[in-house]
Amino acid sequence: MKLDARQQLRAVPEDVLLQRLGSGVPGLELTTEPATRRMFSADLLCEGACCAAIVHPSTLAELQAAVSVVAASGYAIVPRGGGLTYVGGYTPPSAETVLFDLRKLNRIICISEENLTVTVEAGVTWEQLGQTLAKRGLRLPFLGTFSGRHATVGGGLGNGALFFGSARYGGVAENVLGLQVVTAAGDCIGLGSHASKNGGDSAYPAFGPGLAGLFLHDAGALGIKATATLRVMRATPEHCYLSFGFEDAKRALALQSAIAREELAEDLYLMDPRKTDALLELPAPARALSALRGLASDEGNWLRAAVLAGRILLNAPRLRGAGLHGLHLVLSGRDMVTVRRQARRVRDLAAAAGAKPLPALIPRSARETLFPPLEALLGPAGERWVALNAKVPHDQAVTLYTAADAVIKRHERAMQASGVSVSLLVTALTPHWLSYEPVLHWSDSWLPLHRSAPQVQAGAMSEPPANEAGRAAAMALRADLLACFSELGTAHTQLGRTYPLLPALEPATAALLLSLKKTLDPEGVMNPGVLGLQG
Ligand SMILES: Cc1cc2nc3c(=O)[nH]c(=O)nc-3n(C[C@H](O)[C@H](O)[C@H](O)COP(=O)(O)OP(=O)(O)OC[C@H]3O[C@@H](n4cnc5c(N)ncnc54)[C@H](O)[C@@H]3O)c2cc1C
Repeated sequence: MKLDARQQLRAVPEDVLLQRLGSGVPGLELTTEPATRRMFSADLLCEGACCAAIVHPSTLAELQAAVSVVAASGYAIVPRGGGLTYVGGYTPPSAETVLFDLRKLNRIICISEENLTVTVEAGVTWEQLGQTLAKRGLRLPFLGTFSGRHATVGGGLGNGALFFGSARYGGVAENVLGLQVVTAAGDCIGLGSHASKNGGDSAYPAFGPGLAGLFLHDAGALGIKATATLRVMRATPEHCYLSFGFEDAKRALALQSAIAREELAEDLYLMDPRKTDALLELPAPARALSALRGLASDEGNWLRAAVLAGRILLNAPRLRGAGLHGLHLVLSGRDMVTVRRQARRVRDLAAAAGAKPLPALIPRSARETLFPPLEALLGPAGERWVALNAKVPHDQAVTLYTAADAVIKRHERAMQASGVSVSLLVTALTPHWLSYEPVLHWSDSWLPLHRSAPQVQAGAMSEPPANEAGRAAAMALRADLLACFSELGTAHTQLGRTYPLLPALEPATAALLLSLKKTLDPEGVMNPGVLGLQG
């Protein structure tokens, strides 16, 4: 993706840029070392152009000043949080780019126990925030992403993050009350609960038109989020974990939607049979014991739990290899009576749908280590992966599943020939929507970010050889899935430079978005190319 000629002509030489940053923003941390610049310029999908510099602002004032200097120097401004994506959302469109590493804006500014809100800087991670709130007996409704050990609140707001807690509470977008956004001019705009001159950070956000929403899911195209105020709730310490197997994915989807509509679970996701088979490898004794213990507390009765657990464990070998799609749930509440009542209702719905109870090790271990170290940057054998997502209302889940499955089947021969495989995650997102997420895996040489995975750093994994055929087959499947989604009119999160937004919008909506971009960023310097906005 190229910047337009006007901007390329205006870019000052790199040494002038660095000198301006040094004198214009005293104390600003800057990185110019080439290997680091290259690493920051690639995500898990592709390498962008190598950026000219990385700035690491640690205060709002530094951020504003750095934005002003970079914009006036004719360079593109690209925000980057944890950098844990695969959609080209922060990969530089040209070498005339300065990456804004926002991880040093990591203060938790204010927790209001009276108003149940928290105000944070955008570089705070989900793990950091969750741990701080837990010490006060509080939690976020949407707890964060799998990547939340390093992924940031700002990156989540740019991408529309969702997962832990999303079946009941939605993603980050449903839980943000206000923002402070730094625009290409270096101005800081207060939005939502931050809009009022005298109201403080927790002001009622719907005082006039809700402008904060315009800056969500924007991949940083409209500005850099510096601060966010999020909803908080009292902790829900009681949990119950359930898993069920289905031969037929469509029946599993129907049950998933039914459970979501009744708001019985806060995590509710469907995985493909490969995951179920791995789960049904008989658990190690310690695992089995922990599963039994968990069931006992879920059931509140050791005898009943033992019978249920025994049945699940005895059935495990028979179910292995049966091609079962696994539906996994986390129920959560403030008292076990409520949680058990919800669990009974789920079990009744599951039995009526013909589901087979499975050991609930997947949802339990996902919650026990909420934000694991990022070994998952690579597959178990060091393979690469990229994911796509498509959001539909519950009543369109089967149509989407069937259409995407047909696309995957069309590619099966090419995939087999070059070692590409697909796994699937379908996540309930409130009672209204589901997120369908195919994940494409193939063995290939790594991008710089893959080399930062903990197992690679520890020397426990070495880089596979390049596999051009596998990469081409994966990208061909990816392109066809994107075309299929676009035909069905699905919505998406994590737009980056991957999902064609403008052609999908009503013309009047697209015109409004373009004029907003023009107003906020007339020179087109703010993350050019994301959302298909060239500036
Ligand atoms: C192992 C793994 C697990 C994952 N699990 C999940 C999951 O459970 N749920 C999920 O939704 N996603 C998941 N993801 C995808 C991704 O991690 C999330 O979308 C996450 O929210 C990205 O946050 P980040 O801080 O890494 O953002 P980045 O990747 O750094 O940035 C994301 C986008 O936002 C922009 N941006 C970053 N910070 C700001 C800011 N302050 N202001 C304006 N724009 C900004 C960037 O330019 C970019 O376009 C996963 C990825 C991996 C690798």
